[in-house]
Amino acid sequence: MDFDLFVIGGGSAGVRCARIAAGHGARVGVAEERFWGGTCVNIGCVPKKLLVQAGEYGAWADDAAGFGWSIRKGPHDWRKLIAAKDREITRLQGIYRTLLNNAGATIFDATATFVDPHTLDVGGQRVTAERIVIATGGHPERPPVPGAELGIISDDAFYLERMPRRIVIVGSGYIAVEFAGIFQALGADVHLVYRQPMPIRGFDHDLRENLAEALANQGVSLHPGCRPEKLEADGEGRVLTFGGGQTLRADLVFFATGRRPATARLGLRKADVATGQGGAVIVNAHLQTNQPHIFAIGDVTDRLNLTPVATAEGHALADSLFGNDPREVSLRNVPSAVFSTPPIATVGLTEEQAAEHGPVDVYLTKFTPMRHTLTGRTRKSMMKLVVDQASRKVVGAHMLGEDSPEIIQGIAIALIMGATKADFDRTIGIHPTAAEEFVTLRTRTRTSGAAKAAE
Ligand SMILES: Cc1cc2nc3c(=O)[nH]c(=O)nc-3n(C[C@H](O)[C@H](O)[C@H](O)COP(=O)(O)OP(=O)(O)OC[C@H]3O[C@@H](n4cnc5c(N)ncnc54)[C@H](O)[C@@H]3O)c2cc1C
Repeated sequence: MDFDLFVIGGGSAGVRCARIAAGHGARVGVAEERFWGGTCVNIGCVPKKLLVQAGEYGAWADDAAGFGWSIRKGPHDWRKLIAAKDREITRLQGIYRTLLNNAGATIFDATATFVDPHTLDVGGQRVTAERIVIATGGHPERPPVPGAELGIISDDAFYLERMPRRIVIVGSGYIAVEFAGIFQALGADVHLVYRQPMPIRGFDHDLRENLAEALANQGVSLHPGCRPEKLEADGEGRVLTFGGGQTLRADLVFFATGRRPATARLGLRKADVATGQGGAVIVNAHLQTNQPHIFAIGDVTDRLNLTPVATAEGHALADSLFGNDPREVSLRNVPSAVFSTPPIATVGLTEEQAAEHGPVDVYLTKFTPMRHTLTGRTRKSMMKLVVDQASRKVVGAHMLGEDSPEIIQGIAIALIMGATKADFDRTIGIHPTAAEEFVTLRTRTRTSGAAKAAE
């Protein structure tokens, strides 16, 4: 065999797995067909957050007047922003290549596909490996409506020649609401068209409600309960028909309507690897497919599609196979954030999920952050703890508000350690902060779940 391990895909999951395995002394090959660092570095988390931050500067310039500053905000230069973002991304791509090279992995700038269970075609070259890791991630999908190809997807949004003056975003998942915030903050007129009654399905309902309110306060026009019907060109512009014949005209229509695992072109049938819904590779708790020597990690398994999960899986798999440290990655209590304006962060169970297991006490507060008492901006923060009545453990912590991702990261440690409400209560706050609210929530807002039903 040419390699002990061959990794297909140089994204968050693949690079970590290849690097750690090579560090353990394995002979590792890794192929990437598009860009080292994958989605997160090139067309995901990193450039997205830079764009969010670009929008924040505009708001800060507006808000400074409340603190006595006279700042005249000039026009925003989109091209300059994209060029600066591209320089940073190129730097990061270089770092990923260097990390792999330094670890001793053999890198291939090529597409890899299966020829048989132990053989890959890597850019026209036959390569054999004892074990193979599928880490090919996912890609955005357009909805099946006429003219969908006239719309853009998130991959395109990072490379637009011009900032749109008016944009319609279809969808209400985290990518849709993040880009709604970005484009609105950079000066566009933004419409959000979505099927659900509230955005970010799957999140706690108080977060969803408060996010809808925050988006509206920011100036985003919301069109809930509406399906896209067709998209047409009108000169340079686009016309979206949706929600039973309503129309919106815009410079751009952006479909943020979901992602699909990247398995269609991998030749999985030749290796007899089983896939499930949407083409996701099916794995067991050890990230092993139905073929014991073939593994899959990260978004291609379509379980919890987040970069830190992908890297944790890559690391655990490499340690398990070559580092004499077999371990699994727990997908319980994985914190996550939505970089909307303001952001959301969450860990643990939603109130609805927790209430299915038994009665829960909910502690909730909503307030104007200190900064905005002077800026006059309509912006609220919301914080919520969900506490299991029987064990008094905090089983969910949710926040919408400035700095929420930074705050919830720490709270996640407490949840993973099994902290009770009493542990939160005996923690002394840091004053004056928003975070201190999490340790000063004394009054129960409501009880949900079985006990309430029995009352
Ligand atoms: C717009 C957007 C914003 C996001 N924001 C966040 C965020 O804020 N926080 C967060 O945690 N997550 C975020 N994510 C999700 C995150 O990017 C993914 O969870 C993460 O990138 C998954 O890593 P991966 O290695 O599984 O897949 P990817 O990073 O997608 O890597 C897969 C790689 O495989 C390559 N590849 C595919 N097929 C082949 C082949 N046959 N041969 C060779 N190479 C191949 C691809 O080119 C790609 O580079 C975001 C995603 C998007 C799209």
